[in-house]
Amino acid sequence: MRSDIIVIGGGAAGLMAAIGAAQTLAQSENGGTVTVLEKMPKAARKIMISGKGRCNFTNVKDWADFSAHIRTDANFISPSWHNLTPENVITLFNTNGLRSVVERGDRAFPASKMAGDVVDTLLRACTLAGVKVVTDCEVKTIDITPRGFSLDCVQTSRRQVNLKEEITIEPVEYTCLKLIVATGGLSYPGTGSTGDGYMWAEELGHSVDACFPALTALVPAGYKETSALAGEIKKAFRSRTVYGKTKERYIQPLPKWYPKFEKHIERRVPLSELGELFNGNNLDNVQLSLYINGDLAQQEFGDVEFTDGGLEGPLGFMISRKAVKALNDGQKVSVSMDLKPAVELEKLDEDIHQKWDEVIHDERSKGQSFQRLFRIMLGKLIPWNATLAFLRTNPKVSVDTLAATLKDWRFEIAGFVGFERAVITAGGISTAEVVAKTLESKKHPGLYWAGEVLDIDADTGGYNLQLAFSTGYLAGQSAAKSL
Ligand SMILES: Cc1cc2nc3c(=O)[nH]c(=O)nc-3n(C[C@H](O)[C@H](O)[C@H](O)COP(=O)(O)OP(=O)(O)OC[C@H]3O[C@@H](n4cnc5c(N)ncnc54)[C@H](O)[C@@H]3O)c2cc1C
Repeated sequence: MRSDIIVIGGGAAGLMAAIGAAQTLAQSENGGTVTVLEKMPKAARKIMISGKGRCNFTNVKDWADFSAHIRTDANFISPSWHNLTPENVITLFNTNGLRSVVERGDRAFPASKMAGDVVDTLLRACTLAGVKVVTDCEVKTIDITPRGFSLDCVQTSRRQVNLKEEITIEPVEYTCLKLIVATGGLSYPGTGSTGDGYMWAEELGHSVDACFPALTALVPAGYKETSALAGEIKKAFRSRTVYGKTKERYIQPLPKWYPKFEKHIERRVPLSELGELFNGNNLDNVQLSLYINGDLAQQEFGDVEFTDGGLEGPLGFMISRKAVKALNDGQKVSVSMDLKPAVELEKLDEDIHQKWDEVIHDERSKGQSFQRLFRIMLGKLIPWNATLAFLRTNPKVSVDTLAATLKDWRFEIAGFVGFERAVITAGGISTAEVVAKTLESKKHPGLYWAGEVLDIDADTGGYNLQLAFSTGYLAGQSAAKSL
């Protein structure tokens, strides 16, 4: 099978790369063909689960504000971003039938609130531009040939026979003149992002900066059961089964960019009794401070959520990148939550004493224990459901120390949830080896990298999808222009 340009990976970056390439070829005299090879049965599985199913597909801040949310080298992203800005993405989607809305924090969503509509729009744009999207086609190896690239793939075909799905798998070879790799990172491997691009990058002589999960849950000490399950999972991560060129299965040692996961606590490790008290609590408008080895490293204001993973929500995610990096470096990590950031300590102390006075003089308080009355008073200051977790973690708190404790609720962080449920993979192919203005590899002409497979990442808020769209589109245009 042959195509002038092949894109490996039908995610946000890959589909946008194909659109950019096909649109550019359509405007050129010579034309050409563009094919996307996607290993999953359907393209863009990750977009389907993005933004809690609503897909926060971009953020409409201008470059100065947008770039402040990029956690890697913003200069590398700049040419891609200016070539396809958030407004350009909105217009491209609009032209292909998707209306969008901009919400708090400049975050853009489809007006329908359905992530599936973003995927349909991208696929519609691909079809209109003449792109061929081949699903169920997993690329196994990349070989460089005198005329471009040769890809060994495995094509899965499915058909219904007597109400049962019959699956056939056969090897297929694809060749192309220009190759764009947009295979994503390692996060949520169930969506197809299993780090294949990193493996090829190393084989092709690229450096892969150590990968680690970012925008992930932090696990407070004592939040999870430390059980045999956690140990077993750790063991399983020590080796990875891959297919080699010979198509034989073999166990290969982990490459050096693969993280050690010393402090990785699998999402499915059960909650402890303490974790159960926290799970399901959402605390809004708090200030979260991250301490690394006792020093203040980051401070954010907003909402946190306690889930079956640990501490997450917008604020938890915001501090997770630094926290995971520090934990991986063997540093001590703790967080402090100020539940009343808008109230000065003295004023809060006054309020508390006043509330306590009211509670103990209330008729209904007669015969109630101190603990019960204290919890009732606390419930007037923080959500009732959070009171048990607060009291369990601050057993010595009194009426006199409550104000200070509410403004400095401390947790040691024991670990973090790994790629199984991290929103983004930090690290990846070193951007120093990729031309920012074209996304072409500095190692192999005709080879392009785009999206999360690169060492690029940003905060939550629509920034990451925009990075994928912008780098994908520029890679596609550049590949087409150089045909
Ligand atoms: C739960 C969740 C929610 C998120 N929400 C948001 C959000 O609201 N806003 C935002 O901006 N970002 C969000 N993100 C991040 C965003 O989804 C990613 O940054 C973005 O999808 C990366 O795009 P990509 O195309 O580079 O990689 P991916 O989306 O990972 O796509 C890579 C594709 O390559 C395919 N592939 C991999 N290997 C092969 C192979 N060997 N052969 C063929 N195909 C292959 C995969 O199957 C996959 O389809 C979210 C992420 C997660 C996990």
